[in-house]
Amino acid sequence: MDIAENLKKVRASLPEHVKLVAVSKTKPPEDILQAYEAGQRDFGENKIQEMVEKQVDLPADIRWHMIGHVQRNKVKYMASFVSLIHGVDSEKLLKEIDKRAKQHNRVIPCLLQLHIAKEESKFGFDEDELKQLISGGRLEAFKNVRLEGMMGMATFTDNTEQLRSEFRYLEGIYQQYREHFPHFNTLSMGMSGDYPIAVEEGSTMVRIGSSIFGDRNV
Ligand SMILES: *Cc1c(COP(=O)(O)O)cnc(C)c1O
Repeated sequence: MDIAENLKKVRASLPEHVKLVAVSKTKPPEDILQAYEAGQRDFGENKIQEMVEKQVDLPADIRWHMIGHVQRNKVKYMASFVSLIHGVDSEKLLKEIDKRAKQHNRVIPCLLQLHIAKEESKFGFDEDELKQLISGGRLEAFKNVRLEGMMGMATFTDNTEQLRSEFRYLEGIYQQYREHFPHFNTLSMGMSGDYPIAVEEGSTMVRIGSSIFGDRNV
């Protein structure tokens, strides 16, 4: 498994404006360092505890992305360093992130996760919940959170038409809410199996694990 070579290939397949988050969950620090030495700085993890353990030993200029489902009681462990939280799926969670960010005297960038897949198991707001959150007017109170855009996970399927329609749906909502949030600059969608379609449909950030680090056996 040549991580540097894989990384180069993935980068070469992405347009200039699309940011790459290398998803290192379950992979050891040595693998992350190989990618780091090849120039990668953005890494994604889906478990807070695992991200915290890796962060202490790895270079300080790594930007850590929390891409998984976030348990509120664990926000405090990452609040000092996390660079972007992709999976914000409730107002309660935003409130907790705001509180912990404030304790560290920082503003934490976040994305709102939208439920776009047909599968039940994927987290995120649906359109109505999103509307309620935004129209409630309570977001302005969260001074230590900065919403930068949206994130979504498509259905796990080979059906490219379905993937395309799910990504297109999310992109439509993203554009719609950019009218309220003109500073939105991030649409996080696309993984190893589906990112070329996500990019065609307007993704600005892809989260890629196995195409860089190889299959995960856990
Ligand atoms: C694991 C994971 C990825 C990366 O998956 P690959 O198929 O290995 O590229 C992307 N996004 C999220 C939310 C993940 O949990």
